[in-house]
Amino acid sequence: MKAFSELKRTHTCGELRPSDIGKKVRLNGWVNSQRNLGGLLFIDLRDRYGLSQVVINPETFDPTMLAVAQRTRSEFVLAVVGTVMARPEGTVNEKLDTGGIDVNVEEFYILSESKTPPFEIEDETTARDVLRLEYRYLDLRRRPLQERIRARHDITLAVRNYLAGQGLYEIETPLMIRSTPEGARDYVVPSRVSHGKFYALPQSPQLFKQILMVAGFDKYFQIARCLRDEDLRADRQPEHTQIDLEMSFVTPDDVFTLVEDLMADVFKKILNVEITTPFPRFTYEEVMNRWGIDKPDLRFGMEIVDLSDVVADCEFKVFADNVKGGGVVKGIVLKGGGTYSRKQVDEMTTRARDLGAGGLAYILRAEGGDKSPILKFIGEDVKDQLIERAAVKVGDALFIIADARLKTEEILGQLRLHLGRQHDLIDKSQWSFLWVNEFPLFEFDEESKRFSAMHNIVSHPLEADLPLIDEGFGSDLPGTDLNHPWRRARANQYDLVINGWEIASGGQRINRRELQQKILNILGIDDARAERMFGFLLRALEYGAPPHAGIAAGLDRLVALMTGSESIRDVIAFPKTANAMSLMDGSPAKIDPEQLEELGLMIKPEEKES
Ligand code: ASP
Repeated sequence: MKAFSELKRTHTCGELRPSDIGKKVRLNGWVNSQRNLGGLLFIDLRDRYGLSQVVINPETFDPTMLAVAQRTRSEFVLAVVGTVMARPEGTVNEKLDTGGIDVNVEEFYILSESKTPPFEIEDETTARDVLRLEYRYLDLRRRPLQERIRARHDITLAVRNYLAGQGLYEIETPLMIRSTPEGARDYVVPSRVSHGKFYALPQSPQLFKQILMVAGFDKYFQIARCLRDEDLRADRQPEHTQIDLEMSFVTPDDVFTLVEDLMADVFKKILNVEITTPFPRFTYEEVMNRWGIDKPDLRFGMEIVDLSDVVADCEFKVFADNVKGGGVVKGIVLKGGGTYSRKQVDEMTTRARDLGAGGLAYILRAEGGDKSPILKFIGEDVKDQLIERAAVKVGDALFIIADARLKTEEILGQLRLHLGRQHDLIDKSQWSFLWVNEFPLFEFDEESKRFSAMHNIVSHPLEADLPLIDEGFGSDLPGTDLNHPWRRARANQYDLVINGWEIASGGQRINRRELQQKILNILGIDDARAERMFGFLLRALEYGAPPHAGIAAGLDRLVALMTGSESIRDVIAFPKTANAMSLMDGSPAKIDPEQLEELGLMIKPEEKES
């Protein structure tokens, strides 16, 4: 066999066109398929650029090479030398870029053989996920995955170019840091040199990017890997990638503008879609009120309507008492829902109950009159007022929940999404971008009676709410006072939402030690522990920390969204399973006893299950 240097491709498998007819070429690639037809051997040769059909005529072919060609199987890697020919009339394949030509093979070589793959390399596959992950290199050969990985590259490159063009420096921050939990559990790395000590893998570059601001690099970005040891929900990965950025001497408005322009640029370059900037902005309060979720999908309507005042004094105790007790009565209108059957209503009620509702009230407006089990309690008059308030047309349905405010909104928000999907109300041709800002600074956990940071321990309180921080220290126990100042404090913290997905999250950061320490105190971290965990940040804040703000966008989600992928797994070359395992390399795995010894570690024997 010739040396590979003599067989190296002159063209890729996606490159040849009728204008190349007559050229002598060499192609390298994988056998996608082969067939014998009319005495000829046809092979589709594949690489990441496309497919080319190569043809062998056994009558005129070198017998030794023919024998080699005949034992070729799917996924063998070949080198062929041949001449580009026009396809005979009637056999042109319009669907293929190379569909106008064949390569008439004169020399044929196998560069590498393949076992029979455990599944076929096809665009659509029914192969089980575990098999696809174990043989990820075969799965990745499939065209849809090739396209997504390529899109990921294109998007990443566009992001990099854009941000660098705006004067942001790309700076790497360490992968081995001190454990500073940011909400999830840290992955930890034992130190060999310092026994009993551990590094942590960063959940994000958050504190380091802030320290870069203190260091005077006033515009920073990084395509950063973030590692979080959390129980994996549907679309989470233990490692994900963020487009992380931070700037000094800016206000959140500057961050919004930069990200809006970045998105406009990337969507134009990659999808040729013009998106309108600036994006609408809503406060957290407003989105919860109107759509019952902090990442609303605005590609369809069905806003939540407040009905509380209409029913506050009605005869129906469930409504009236709830409003008097500080709760709300709210509803959503389903267009065309007036003809809902008993079964459909029951299904909605079950869904509402599963979401935590005590029940679901409704009014169905059909041609023949209004149907509602609560009619006998509320009376015609209140019913008419409800219909008017919610603008329920004949043919529509009004679904009503009565409960505490946030709970009511959240349940209706979920029902709205469900109905939107079920009835195909979402306009898939639209891109809906929006900002949500002014998130609550803290969340109060009723069980542990503790505050946690709703987003980030470094989020700066909204300027107007700064007094609430000090006020809170003098107030009653937050557990009993539902109006406690810390429950009311809002953060200068924002999310970017696209089509109902939270794509980016960021905020203005605290740049004074005193305030940072107070916030840590509120989170139950006393000064000694604050020093232990965050001493390096607190100290940096004592040496001239400029006002700064930033954001991080989830690259995996953005790529999934832009490529229409259902899962972020499809846009990550080597993803992990829901149990955080990599089936291809078999990690996590045990390590040698010598390695443990060196690290000064002992593994506790597994407890036997009784
Ligand atoms: N570090 C934050 C996160 O990972 C993002 C940010 O606020 O910049 O969620």
